Amino acid sequence: IDSLFGVYGASGFGREVMPLAANYLNKQGINQENLYFIDDSVEEKEINGYKVIKYSEFKEKKANKKFISLAIANNKIRNELANALQEDGIISWSLHHDNVVKLAEVSIKEGYVLCPFVCLTSNIKIGKHFHANIYSYVGHDCTIGDFVTFAPGVKCNGNIIIEDNVYIGTGAIIKQGKPNRPLIIGKGAVVGMGAVVTKNVPEGDTVIGNPAKTLSRKSLRG
Ligand code: UDP
Repeated sequence: IDSLFGVYGASGFGREVMPLAANYLNKQGINQENLYFIDDSVEEKEINGYKVIKYSEFKEKKANKKFISLAIANNKIRNELANALQEDGIISWSLHHDNVVKLAEVSIKEGYVLCPFVCLTSNIKIGKHFHANIYSYVGHDCTIGDFVTFAPGVKCNGNIIIEDNVYIGTGAIIKQGKPNRPLIIGKGAVVGMGAVVTKNVPEGDTVIGNPAKTLSRKSLRG
C-alpha cells in the first residue's frame, strides 16, 4: 500500500474531524479503506463506518507513507502525540473543511485542523497543530504559536499574539491590540468560555468573565 491515513482520537472531536479526512481522500480518489480512527482506549471496533485501531497497530501496518491528524482538543496530549509521530516517521496531517476562508498572507504550519466556518483573514502567522473549531475566526496581523486550541466560536480580533499551548474556550472574545502594542495571551494560558479578554493574559493564567480576570495561575501549563 502506498499511503495510510489516521484520525487520532475517536471521541467527540475526532468524529467531527473524520468527515474532513474522508472528503480529502474522496477528492484525491483514495480508497476510504486506507483511513482509520486511531484510539488507545475506546472499546468500539468501528465508529461511523471506520475501523478503530490502536496507535501501536497503526504503526505496525506496512505503507510507504503514513499520515495522522491529531484530532484531540487537549493541547498537552496533542504535543506528546506529535512528538511520537515525529519519532515514528509519521507525517502530521493537516485538514480543513471546504468552506474555510483564508484571505491574504496566511501562513500556517503542519498538523492543523480548520473546522467548518472558520475564517482566517489577512497577514496571519500560525504555528503547528493549531485547532480552530467551528465558527472561530482569526483577524488581521495575529501571531499564534504552536499547539493552540480554539473551541467553537472564538473571536480573535486583530493584532493579537497568542503564545504556545494556549486554550481558548467556546465563544470567548479577545479585544483587538494595536499594531505597536499587540494584546498578548501568554504561553499555556486558558481562557474560559464566554470570557471577554480586554488586556494581556500572563503566562499560565486561567481567566474567566467579562472583563476577563485571573482565576488561577500555573507556571508550567502545557
Ligand atoms: N486518546 C488516545 N491516546 C492518547 C490520548 C487520548 O487514544 O494518548 C484518545 C482518548 O481515548 C479519547 C480521545 O483521544 O477517545 C480524546 O477524546 P476527549 O473526549 O478527551 O476529547 P475531544 O474529543 O474533545 O478532543
